[in-house]
Amino acid sequence: MRIPDCDFALIGGSGTLSIDMPENLGLDYVTTDCEEFCLETPYGAGGPFKIFTIESPRGDKKVISCRMHNWQGGVSRGRCSQQAFWVFQQAGVKKILSEGGVGAVNYLLKTRDMVIPHDYVDFSLRKDISLTDNYLLIMRDPFCGDLRKVIKEQTEKSWAGRVFDLGVYANTEGRHFESPSEISYMKRAGADIVGQSVCPEVYLAREIGACYAGMYMVVNYAEGVVLPWRHEELADIFYNESISLGKIMIDILRNLDISQNCSCPALRKETLLTKIYSERKNDDG
Ligand SMILES: [Zn+2]
Repeated sequence: MRIPDCDFALIGGSGTLSIDMPENLGLDYVTTDCEEFCLETPYGAGGPFKIFTIESPRGDKKVISCRMHNWQGGVSRGRCSQQAFWVFQQAGVKKILSEGGVGAVNYLLKTRDMVIPHDYVDFSLRKDISLTDNYLLIMRDPFCGDLRKVIKEQTEKSWAGRVFDLGVYANTEGRHFESPSEISYMKRAGADIVGQSVCPEVYLAREIGACYAGMYMVVNYAEGVVLPWRHEELADIFYNESISLGKIMIDILRNLDISQNCSCPALRKETLLTKIYSERKNDDG
């Protein structure tokens, strides 16, 4: 199958897991073009993906979406991300919006707060975090500033909870949650929230030249922060906030354009390592 051109990508996390995106939102300006399909990639068969179109006065937006919790069993999270981002690259994706549930490390946060992080700390041990060795990836502004601005504007319009447009996301390997001592360590490392989805997505987005940012709903306190969390409240949030969150994500995508006047394109450089190595090989020859 030829992958259709799509300027935008949506990565669904636990916040929209309980609904069919975009069908369950009931929005008459959103049409599903392609029901769920899987694709063969150099990293194995990936998917399912879905393609939908959002009508907008500023031009229709074609979106390719996938959800990370719906992937095949027995495939590592890093491998799933490689498959997804390889497909995004083939589709020519320029901007990627991600969502997920997170734990609060910063005790000023509370459940249903929305955090749009500006930075991250990667505590995962993953090795499968790139598609090629072709680029030097500079993580100075890891989350696109322009995309974060649109996320903030649209979220503040209709999200019932508080919205924070700064925050540091600590990424762990999972699938288990963290221990109290690990959370204490992350707090001292500057983390505000903890989750398992930003890395390696943030590296892969930069590698394919796409802008990337996300919105992360606080679904519990991390261990040792404020209160022991309750499984019932976690389930309640996942089931009851999905529609509202999904609609905001559609609004964000509807208000994006494909210009990349941000710092993202300049933060990907051709790597010097392979160039120097091949020059040395030529000299030796
Ligand atoms: Zn950008």
